[in-house]
Amino acid sequence: MARYTGAVCKLCRREGQKLFLKGERCYTGKCALDRRSYAPGQHGQARMKKASEYGKQLRTKQVAKRYYSVLEGQFRHYFELAEKMPGAAGENLLTLLESRLDNVVYRMGLASSRAEARQLVGHKHFAVNGRTVNIPSFLVKPGMVITVRENSRSLGKIKAIVEANSARPVPKWLEMNKETLECKVVALAKREDIDLPIEETLIVELYSK
Ligand code: SF4
Repeated sequence: MARYTGAVCKLCRREGQKLFLKGERCYTGKCALDRRSYAPGQHGQARMKKASEYGKQLRTKQVAKRYYSVLEGQFRHYFELAEKMPGAAGENLLTLLESRLDNVVYRMGLASSRAEARQLVGHKHFAVNGRTVNIPSFLVKPGMVITVRENSRSLGKIKAIVEANSARPVPKWLEMNKETLECKVVALAKREDIDLPIEETLIVELYSK
């Protein structure tokens, strides 16, 4: 299960935008981007050159990868799948990324970041249709029901996370029962359901070269 293990705040500073990779901290004055709003490294404060068309496409792809904590090979694989699906490849790509189990757990409000969701899934705290799934990249489908496993429900850590994230809205493609911590996938996420500022057509242009 390969993943990026470096300092995540550097990724936000590199992209010049908040990627919300650190949960609660991202909403406080401790956010590294709020305190140092320039790129990391020796030349980070040098005036940025205007990005070329290729540069914009590349940065957009990097932002999408970083939002969902997906490495290049897997991201490319999602794009290939998206191209084979009916409809616009860029929108399909975002739908696939949204369907990852770690993202769904985050959207359910059962983790404060996708990284935390990934860890919780890896530690077998969730079941899909009654069966334990510990693969963060597992793709959910409409009709599937995601639950917090019986043994995990009483854990202090899970209770604290649920409490901390209770006010976060759940997208309409998920039907969440906050009492039982059960969530039904009612549909796949559409582009208008996804609140990320990503111009997905730039990713399609990049990969279509
Ligand atoms: Fe990005 Fe969050 Fe770090 Fe701020 S605190 S730089 S939003 S990961």
